[in-house]
Amino acid sequence: MLRASAAARAFGLVKGDQLMVGELLALARQVRRDGEIREGEIEVSGSKFGGRRTSFAVRVAPLGSTVGGGGLVLLLAEDQTESRRVEEVRRDFVANISHELKTPVGALALLAETIEEAADDPESVRRFSGRMRQEASRLTYLVQDLITLSRIQAAEPIPDPRPVEVGAVVAEALDRCRMKANARGIELAVTVEGNGLVVLGDEDLLVTALRNLLENAVAYSPEHTRVVVSARRDGPGTAQISVADQGIGIPERELERIFERFYRVDPARSRATGGTGLGLAIVKHAMAAHNGKVTVWSKEGAGSTFTLQLPVQRKPSANGAGPAAGHSQLVREAVQ
Ligand code: ADP
Repeated sequence: MLRASAAARAFGLVKGDQLMVGELLALARQVRRDGEIREGEIEVSGSKFGGRRTSFAVRVAPLGSTVGGGGLVLLLAEDQTESRRVEEVRRDFVANISHELKTPVGALALLAETIEEAADDPESVRRFSGRMRQEASRLTYLVQDLITLSRIQAAEPIPDPRPVEVGAVVAEALDRCRMKANARGIELAVTVEGNGLVVLGDEDLLVTALRNLLENAVAYSPEHTRVVVSARRDGPGTAQISVADQGIGIPERELERIFERFYRVDPARSRATGGTGLGLAIVKHAMAAHNGKVTVWSKEGAGSTFTLQLPVQRKPSANGAGPAAGHSQLVREAVQ
């Protein structure tokens, strides 16, 4: 006789009056034979189990006296798939961080050694100490990005949201990228429509998110191209900020993965431009914390457009975050 819960049937562990997993059957038999409680972990996969891999923590216990065989056995299986997945992601993340930290730290050690050996040659000392500075700032960016990411993840949603003017976010993010764009002769063009567009959130975090998109647009574009940032209202309840570049683009199969921590389409190029591999993960989490989202359109060789969408603040606050929405303004700026 076999009684099973609806969930046990839904998971495919039981069909009709049969236990479908060999390992479970074996455990149940052992327990029935000697009356000892047993615990274990099993994993099932394949079409019989809905095509997905599922991990269960199982506990098998005799019901009443079963020694000598024949009695009832209670079998509890708890789905552990999600907690396993989270654990796996965390383990991967730690392994990735260790790897990412090792590179600049190793380079610093090597450069220090080289400088020591070249102590009599001021030209080499200058060159190698320049490289040391580069590696040290790479380390600083990485640590800063890690701190930002862990802060957003820990504090989802934003603890103390305030009205933030979208135009101010755009201006601030642009300010911080101007030098990099300048250095590569990339033109930054800006359109802000709806001057009073206000969202509720954390201004620093929104600036960081937009700055990451802008820095990528500059880093993954050839020199003397153009990056266009536009902010506007998208329907009554949404503010939209997009960053469009004429850069190398992203292959379609990679589009899903670029928002993962440390995922890079071309690791060598990302390192060469000082990327940490965390920029888009920060953008994604920053948007989630604001009830917004980030989407991407891209074509290899043609360019990419990243779009942020954020809910607008329902009632603009009395202390006024600028003139009324709908007021249209076009600001254009060329950086050469
Ligand atoms: P990174 O620090 O490497 O730039 P990100 O998380 O910001 O890390 O981006 C992940 C990857 O997505 C980058 O390594 C790059 O391959 C790709 N990518 C991001 N933005 C762009 C863009 N505007 N154009 C082309 N590729 C991009």
